[in-house]
Amino acid sequence: TVVYLNGERVDYENARISVEDRGFQFGDGIYEVVRVYGGRFFYLDRHLARMKKGADEIYLDMDFGLDNLEKVCRQALKESGFKDASVYIQVTRGAYPRQHTFPPESSCTWVVIVREAKAQPREFYENGVMGITVPDERWNRCNIKTVQLLANSIAKEKAKKAGAYEAIFHRGGCVTEASSSNVFIVRNKKLLTHPANNFILHGITRGVVLEIARDNKIDYSEEVFSLQDLFEAEEVFVSGTMTEVMPIVKIDGKIIGDGVPGEITRSIMKAYDALTKTIDQ
Ligand code: PMP
Repeated sequence: TVVYLNGERVDYENARISVEDRGFQFGDGIYEVVRVYGGRFFYLDRHLARMKKGADEIYLDMDFGLDNLEKVCRQALKESGFKDASVYIQVTRGAYPRQHTFPPESSCTWVVIVREAKAQPREFYENGVMGITVPDERWNRCNIKTVQLLANSIAKEKAKKAGAYEAIFHRGGCVTEASSSNVFIVRNKKLLTHPANNFILHGITRGVVLEIARDNKIDYSEEVFSLQDLFEAEEVFVSGTMTEVMPIVKIDGKIIGDGVPGEITRSIMKAYDALTKTIDQ
């Protein structure tokens, strides 16, 4: 595991941040997780662009510079020697004696952590996994990838306790996304996913899936669908940087479609897998 703290390489054991850090006290920060396949970054550019957008939304000035962050990510990966890795990036508003208002002067705390990543079990992708549904109790600005993940964490813990892989959120019966992934269904052979508004994270993988659909002439639409649509779907899958494209075959104990990964899901999985072997940006 390679750690860079505020642009400097530090030993994992000695990497420390202040008790006054606003990420710790207020969840006042944003993060990204980027996947590396075969030594190649998978859309680092898109992750950094999303991070900049999120920073602007919360009035966070990334004073160290986005180019510098990219350089550190690439340097840290090189030093790690890992071919398959996850790169965790976190930026907070920095440390300052605790007060709700923003510090008059402070510099960001920024961290890059490179870990070796191993693929999830093959049978997850081959057989599909289980999901549960939970009310979406998060705030209304889910498009910002903040480190305030308590609602997501509680939801994922519920899934784990139920022996499920993922928790799918709904707001008043409308499916938004999942605790750490976006949700897609196939209804009448058409791929549906929640519109990219303030109620979901605009997942990089979600975007890639939509590009795959477009390029492969799979009919798709970004529109709101209900819990009932979810249960009656022909196919369901979730998407995420670490999740990739994961078929869901059972939700709240009810079998989805034929109970196996569907045709459209499998074709998207295949196309996604191909991209992981070529994309380098
Ligand atoms: N939604 C949520 C709530 C997430 O935490 C994630 C994973 N970061 C995603 C969706 C998927 O986003 P991405 O494809 O960019 O990893």
